[in-house]
Amino acid sequence: MEHTIAQIYHKSEDEEKKLILREYRALLRVLKDRIKKGDRSRIRRAFEISADAHKDMRRKSGEPYILHPIAVARIVVQEVGMGVTSAICALLHDVVEDTEITLEDIEAEFGSNYAKIIDGLTKISNVVDYNSETTTQQAENFRKILLTLAEDPRVILIKIADRLHNMRTLESMKREKQLKIASETSYIYAPLAHRLGLYEIKSELEDLSLKYTQPDVYEEIMQGLKETKKDRNKYINEFSKPIKQELKEQGYSFEIYGRPKSVHSIWNKIRTKNVAFEEVYDLFAIRIILDTPVEKEKEDCWKVYSIVTNFYNPSPDRLRDWISVPKGNGYEALHTTVMGPAGRWVEVQIRTKRMNEIAEKGVAAHWRYKEGAADLQETKLDSWLEHLREVLSNPDTDTLDFLQDFKLDLFTEEIYIYTPKGDMRVMPKGATALDFAFDIHSELGARCIGAKVNYRLVPISHELKTGDQVEIITSSKQKPSEDWLSLVITGKAKSRIKYYLKEEKRKISEDGKEILYRKLKHMGVSPSQYNLNEITTYFKKQSPLDVFYGIAVGSIDIKELRGFTVHGDKLEQPVKEAKLDSRDLISEKEERKQQHAKDTELIIFGESSDKILYKLAQCCQPIPGDDVFGFITSGDGLKIHRTDCPNAQQLLANHGHRVVKTKWAKNKEISFLTGVRIIGLDDVGVIQMITNVISKELNVNMRSISIDSHDGVFDGTIMVYVNDRAHLDQLCAKLSVLKGINKVIRLQGDNVEKDD
Ligand code: MN
Repeated sequence: MEHTIAQIYHKSEDEEKKLILREYRALLRVLKDRIKKGDRSRIRRAFEISADAHKDMRRKSGEPYILHPIAVARIVVQEVGMGVTSAICALLHDVVEDTEITLEDIEAEFGSNYAKIIDGLTKISNVVDYNSETTTQQAENFRKILLTLAEDPRVILIKIADRLHNMRTLESMKREKQLKIASETSYIYAPLAHRLGLYEIKSELEDLSLKYTQPDVYEEIMQGLKETKKDRNKYINEFSKPIKQELKEQGYSFEIYGRPKSVHSIWNKIRTKNVAFEEVYDLFAIRIILDTPVEKEKEDCWKVYSIVTNFYNPSPDRLRDWISVPKGNGYEALHTTVMGPAGRWVEVQIRTKRMNEIAEKGVAAHWRYKEGAADLQETKLDSWLEHLREVLSNPDTDTLDFLQDFKLDLFTEEIYIYTPKGDMRVMPKGATALDFAFDIHSELGARCIGAKVNYRLVPISHELKTGDQVEIITSSKQKPSEDWLSLVITGKAKSRIKYYLKEEKRKISEDGKEILYRKLKHMGVSPSQYNLNEITTYFKKQSPLDVFYGIAVGSIDIKELRGFTVHGDKLEQPVKEAKLDSRDLISEKEERKQQHAKDTELIIFGESSDKILYKLAQCCQPIPGDDVFGFITSGDGLKIHRTDCPNAQQLLANHGHRVVKTKWAKNKEISFLTGVRIIGLDDVGVIQMITNVISKELNVNMRSISIDSHDGVFDGTIMVYVNDRAHLDQLCAKLSVLKGINKVIRLQGDNVEKDD
């Protein structure tokens, strides 16, 4: 597809028409097996309506717009595994949004079923192309996405296909747009694809997202994979040979192959384990796919497991049986890690053809196997959607929190817990007795004082393990408290606890509200939104409710309002002198010394040469040479972040419109504070050596050094001033060749996310 786009640019009208028809016929071909009587004319109609409605539109690449809906429809059928209805909706997915066609037109032409799905797609589309101003609004929008998902999963499946095609054709977009779309993709769409069991698509979305957010990293890993391909294939052949032979002898019909892990998952390893590409040994997994009837699936998979482990010893703690108990998203397979030739650990995945289709097409595949053995997963997915609906209809409006919790839920491993009656429930790994109580019923959670796990009494904070049988103990006097939030990990428990706490707070706040309103009346002003906001920012609170609460419990002194001035009905807060703690004071002063007057010349924004004031973000401490973007904060001016900053993804995804294109101006005279972590063998004189290299050889200014050492290993952090990325790389290279030093890593900021 990609190369055709460039060619289209110069196509004549005739050629374009031919191309469109060719793509349309290709769509019909992949739909062939599913077309029933009457379908063909309906598909034709959808194509004609869409082609006509989009006829004057072109994509950024220059190609006729209609190629996009056709491509999305094809992905929906071929890669997501959906049928005719979804294909028709995919063809029409952008018409209500972008053209004159209305929802009523769709309903009149195709009926209300179709109109409902298109409506869902249009609503989500508004979310994606947002210009909303506040974070809460953004979160509210994501909530809408999830709500639509809970109503009809087809909407989100088509939306994921739409996003996949946009990601595959992201090349022709502007850089800021690329960053925003890519971040949003890894922030919300990839996790959703994962939760819906679309593993292939999830990996591709993540890889493409990485390709655009961190092109260097992506290229480096791709290059590494290319260079090691020959050796890898040789190894895979050697590993598979005896297994292949034995399977053949026993008369199995099967496929066996080595499959490289995704670029994104390799990058995750490199990042979280702090290793180099060469040190990531499990770059691939061996997959064995059996062609066997449903009633023999389990037995045969275990037989194959037995054959594999006859040749290679398994690691006992790496066996995963998702055949007896499938994952919540429907995934079924047997995974094991065995010791292969040359002492390398190799992951082996055993599954049947049916299970493989579920692994690739997730939810959609379930619908197709509905009548078969997939009843269990069917109900599991249903109960997940049910849970989603329940949480979303909760009046607790803190959607941003909800989204965070929800995302955590999407990725975690699962454990299986039994009720006293023997019913099984799936919980995320790390869930506590309190999570379990909330999972069963929110009232049970709110009154929980402890639990019996396998007949033994445990506190509510007790972490559960697979196979535990849990009975919840309650008391009518119990109620949730703030510290409960640290005792639970599930989104459901968290949102329920927050809801209870908020209710509690609301009750207490009523008193504070009364006191404040009385005071305002006394001052001769009304409790208008403006005045309440003024007071809220003065006391540095999140909302007026927090102020009411603070007054009620005495943490806010209402006498401070005396400092305010009154203009008509408007309050104005007194100007506060900036308070800095001593540590900030030193660093601010020092930084000012280092960066002095040239601040505005360091960074160039967009295409303009305007000089704008900015600050370098503390979380990632960018230095010249880093790939960066500017971000307009709500109260602290413009901040510069690295694109690989741990916070970048979240910022770009939620506040794309606040991002400013930024690059470094060339400047050598100024130094930047950055941190380096050094790990090595403790040896007398090692610090001496390090400081020598830093200050004498390279003439770099050191701000601080702190070193921890135990059992002969030291782990130190050094803060230094460098000119730019090249300067820092030079420093790291020099340090890493010193005797006894194992690893030199640039500090990443303190809250690096780990999501695998
Ligand atoms: Mn679209």
